[in-house]
Amino acid sequence: MGKVGGFYGKLREAGIEFYNNFIIKDKTSFKIGGSVECYLTVKNTGELTIAVKSARKWKKELFIMGNLSNVLVTDRKIRKVFVELKGGFEEIKAKGKTSVYAGAGIKISVMLGWLMKHGLGSLEFLAGIPGKLGGAVYMNAGAYGKGIGSYISRVYFTDKKGNCGIIENGREAFSYRHSIFQDNGFIITGVELKLKKRPVEDIRKEMASLIKIRHSKHPWNAYCAGSFFKNDRNYTAGKLIEEAGLKGLTCGKAEVSRMHANFLINKGGAKFKDVVKLANLVKKAVYRKFGIQLEEEVKYVN
Ligand SMILES: Cc1cc2nc3c(=O)[nH]c(=O)nc-3n(C[C@H](O)[C@H](O)[C@H](O)COP(=O)(O)OP(=O)(O)OC[C@H]3O[C@@H](n4cnc5c(N)ncnc54)[C@H](O)[C@@H]3O)c2cc1C
Repeated sequence: MGKVGGFYGKLREAGIEFYNNFIIKDKTSFKIGGSVECYLTVKNTGELTIAVKSARKWKKELFIMGNLSNVLVTDRKIRKVFVELKGGFEEIKAKGKTSVYAGAGIKISVMLGWLMKHGLGSLEFLAGIPGKLGGAVYMNAGAYGKGIGSYISRVYFTDKKGNCGIIENGREAFSYRHSIFQDNGFIITGVELKLKKRPVEDIRKEMASLIKIRHSKHPWNAYCAGSFFKNDRNYTAGKLIEEAGLKGLTCGKAEVSRMHANFLINKGGAKFKDVVKLANLVKKAVYRKFGIQLEEEVKYVN
């Protein structure tokens, strides 16, 4: 437990669990990251509102984390407060025959297991994607041409002032690996999903087969953040990087995966700057060969 007074005094008074000077590395899928000013967990909207309002009052910058599987975090000191949604935010419940409410803190894998058990299909394409629902909505995560945004009928959020609200889905809220939450800074607290009934066994088989395909194509158990660069209607980043001859290229302990060129991996002990340098080398080489400017899908946190 951390300091007393001001922002931290308020957290303590509200019973919010927090840790100062927390080394974040082990919570990231890249296994890279330094000491953050504070890591805290909130269990419900009441605690989240207190954290947001207090951060505003005492000028603390919040970073809302999912499972940290799509971010590259600096290994320097980070003057941010990392907030994880837990407890009540991990809830999932039926809302009618084919609608489901799920909290932003639930793991995608746990949610998919629950949906399968209840014979609700549509999101099978997410099988094997690590992360939490909030992160998946923020990123409009997906695969095989599908994104989670297409199945969302409502998003519950808390804004920068700590006010809660609901967004009824407009299709414009989501596009390829993008959601309006990347622009408005709202915190996603839960969503309502519109799904389809499907036999449990069909769902199970499809998810098992998709995971098998993933494991055969991706270095899924390497320290990484999945696809590093965004694809486009006209190209896949992995193909461009491979055709530019960059598989196996290294900077320090960071490497362009030999298995899938769009995965930049930490071979153990890589620094933030190694991965950034490698990403820049890849971008330059691809631009020189194809005249295409790759754009990062992974979010830098520094
Ligand atoms: C091996 C591997 C394979 C992957 N394969 C895929 C894939 O096929 N398709 C795909 O789309 N992604 C893939 N990813 C990337 C990643 O798993 C997804 O983007 C995932 O949805 C991110 O979720 P997260 O909870 O880890 O988010 P984080 O990495 O923690 O956060 C990502 C961003 O979302 C923001 N955020 C998180 N939660 C909230 C919230 N509640 N409210 C507001 N903002 C929030 C964070 O601030 C951050 O900017 C892969 C990653 C790995 C490691």
